[in-house]
Amino acid sequence: MQNETMPNFLKNRAFLTPERKAVYFQEQTLTWIELYHRSLEVGGQLQALGVQKDQYVGVLLKNHLDTVVILFALQLLGVKAVMLNNRLTSAELVWQLNDSKASFLILEDSFAEIDLKINQQIASMKTITKERLFRIEPVVPDIEEEISLSDICTIMYTSGTTGNPKGVIQTFGNHWWSSVGSALNLGFMESDCWLCAVPLFHISGFSILMRSVIYGMPIVLHENFNVERTIEDIHEKKVTIMSVVGTMLTRIVEQLEARRLPDHFRCMLLGGGPAPLPLLQACVAKEIPVFQTYGMTESSSQIVTLSPEYSLTKLGSAGKPLFPAQLKIVKDNGSSAEAGEAGEIAVKGANVTPGYLYRPEVMKEKYSDGWFYTGDIGYLDEEGFLYVIDRRSDLIISGGENIYPAEIEAVLLAHPAVADAGVTSIDDVKWGQVPMAFIVKRQGMDVTADELQPFCLDRLAKYKVPKTFYFLEKLPRNAAKKLLRRKLREWVSKNEDSIS
Ligand code: ATP
Ligand code: MG
Repeated sequence: MQNETMPNFLKNRAFLTPERKAVYFQEQTLTWIELYHRSLEVGGQLQALGVQKDQYVGVLLKNHLDTVVILFALQLLGVKAVMLNNRLTSAELVWQLNDSKASFLILEDSFAEIDLKINQQIASMKTITKERLFRIEPVVPDIEEEISLSDICTIMYTSGTTGNPKGVIQTFGNHWWSSVGSALNLGFMESDCWLCAVPLFHISGFSILMRSVIYGMPIVLHENFNVERTIEDIHEKKVTIMSVVGTMLTRIVEQLEARRLPDHFRCMLLGGGPAPLPLLQACVAKEIPVFQTYGMTESSSQIVTLSPEYSLTKLGSAGKPLFPAQLKIVKDNGSSAEAGEAGEIAVKGANVTPGYLYRPEVMKEKYSDGWFYTGDIGYLDEEGFLYVIDRRSDLIISGGENIYPAEIEAVLLAHPAVADAGVTSIDDVKWGQVPMAFIVKRQGMDVTADELQPFCLDRLAKYKVPKTFYFLEKLPRNAAKKLLRRKLREWVSKNEDSIS
């Protein structure tokens, strides 16, 4: 199946529905035929520069119409895009560019400082700003008329929450099946228009671009998330679907106050983590249809989704797998878990990556019998709804009991004086491991361990209550703002003597 071919996505889309709108960006609008011609020209400029089919090319660009053009130009040429996170440091970028053996890097004039540092460190790779690229005299591009579903489209590095980032291979087939799975779940209407205010370099944003070319659906692209502009464009551009993370949705709900979103708006796709109850209740009151999702870079976006009719009855659930995908929960002994029993979440489907770039050994670890082991722990209820608990690598075992840091963090975050909380374990002679909490106090408020301990005791079993509380200014988070519990663990092992 993965060897099946299809016409080049953008060329085919421009042939089928040339006059339909493809992208709205600021004051500009491009139809599919206009986007195709712009991408062809840039494809000619890339080839004039020396970029060749099958090479890996780093893309360090902001959300912009030019980025859409460049990404499609690379697809027309059969070049694999290494999608780089704009918030990374130059050292992290150098690491990913070296790791992916990228031949070129396309970036923005405004990243000049980073450009210089990267140039000093990777002599074998050429960097070019998009501004300079667009001034090159183009050649007539030699484009790929056909793509194979097993061809690599993009490389996307995982957030590095649990270890060093790994380059996830995403094939055209992965994106195709992810888009099809999403359409079969959400339905697709000719009036659909998807607002993209999440980064294109992340799978949340890039998957919108792929759905757009596959469905023939326009996107409204925002450079970053701005709540006023979001609400304005939902009205003006007749946006029907938007992808958000929890913090974005909270801002939208606050901004709306007593107002509602227009009737044509039909789906708020919420990823990244479960939504807190008050937020879901506010969305129900405002009739905002929230679809919660579970997914990862390796599944090329959502693989499990919860429809809005279940958002309160199945509170905390991420839903059921998309039609083309499968899901199971595997216990430590390798057998499938019963309903309600926790284990590792394993997924299967043509949207799941065939592997990590140059890392076959990691794939051997993560794949078994065609199932991909996500490293996340969860359980299914009697009806097959998934509940994600936490990451396997962060599990704390205390006196034989499993403790999930996320559960304790959620309790701590509910304390009014706690702005941020992270939980890890510390070695203990009696219990093996015991939980320890790192707390960031809310500005202008004070709280002590003597207050937090009884607060936790009221809400958690005794063995889950942190034995030690450590107060600090800021928690270690990565570029995706995810908590790096491994950094907390490193800190604990270095300072063990002084803590206990
Ligand atoms: P790395 O793999 O490098 O540690 P990462 O897993 O954080 O980084 P992503 O692929 O961006 O990188 O994130 C996917 C992860 O996000 C999932 O494996 C899961 O741990 C978490 N996640 C996604 N959706 C949900 C959800 N609905 N509830 C809880 N956790 C979620
Ligand atoms: Mg991961």
